[in-house]
Amino acid sequence: STALLQEKENKSTICFDDVAGLEEAKVEVKEIVDFLKDPTIYTHLGAKIPRGIMLIGPPGTGKTLLVKAVAGQAQVPFFSISGSEFVEMFVGVGASRVRDLFKQAKAKAPCIIFIDEIDAVGRLRSKNAFYTGANDERESTLNQLLTEMDGFSANTGIIVLAATNRADMLDPALLRPGRFDRHIYLELPNLTERKAIFKVHLQSIRAEDSLDVDFLSGQTPGFSGADIANICNEAALIAARNKKEKVEKADFINAVDRVIAGLEKKSKIISEKE
Ligand code: ATP
Repeated sequence: STALLQEKENKSTICFDDVAGLEEAKVEVKEIVDFLKDPTIYTHLGAKIPRGIMLIGPPGTGKTLLVKAVAGQAQVPFFSISGSEFVEMFVGVGASRVRDLFKQAKAKAPCIIFIDEIDAVGRLRSKNAFYTGANDERESTLNQLLTEMDGFSANTGIIVLAATNRADMLDPALLRPGRFDRHIYLELPNLTERKAIFKVHLQSIRAEDSLDVDFLSGQTPGFSGADIANICNEAALIAARNKKEKVEKADFINAVDRVIAGLEKKSKIISEKE
């Protein structure tokens, strides 16, 4: 039914201050915010803003967060879908969802379309892959996406943002001029950036005043923003369990250990699969 295919229109209250680190990525997307706020400034001058932007980076580095911040800053709605949703669909459903998505977005422009995990549909079409129904569906979804990307003009007021952890796996057709031709890389945070991320997430937590954020940032090399958000919440849960008045350093240290244990378990499962 069409009701099922209706995409959820989202409003975002997230702003650039909620995104810590990622300074270069923020500079890059600021132009998009300006365009969405008032497309006429650009179209009046004949300036063509990129229609498709690919956010590339490891899991948990803030790709989704950045898209929400763009929507929040520009105060435009965003429509989001995840590439992985298409994988289990019947043939033709994925393509019609893509068509519906762009149709709805056109009616609500200026706005953002966000395609998370685009690699799930946009994987390189392998020449010698044996034929499967799932593959067929994926291809028809991808083809529809390419058609839609080619089918709207730069001044429609729609920006399509997509996210992936695996840009090397993507079908080059997606990255061609006029499609996702602008690429923004998000890296794991360095020490200073981890500190900034801790500060954002500590705002919503009642931590002891003397909490040593430098120490915590130093204890978490290789952690993503999502891992750090997770640590802050785990620490608060541990403190609550122990009926503490405030979240203390020891709770954070416990939380770091828990998150590390969780990450190790995850990577063990992945390596066993391979
Ligand atoms: P995935 O590839 O797994 O979808 P992602 O790159 O889209 O991950 P997000 O979903 O944006 O990552 O991040 C998850 C959560 O981690 C965010 O909602 C936020 O709480 C926190 N986070 C990640 N990066 C940052 C950051 N740079 N600043 C502040 N918080 C962050």
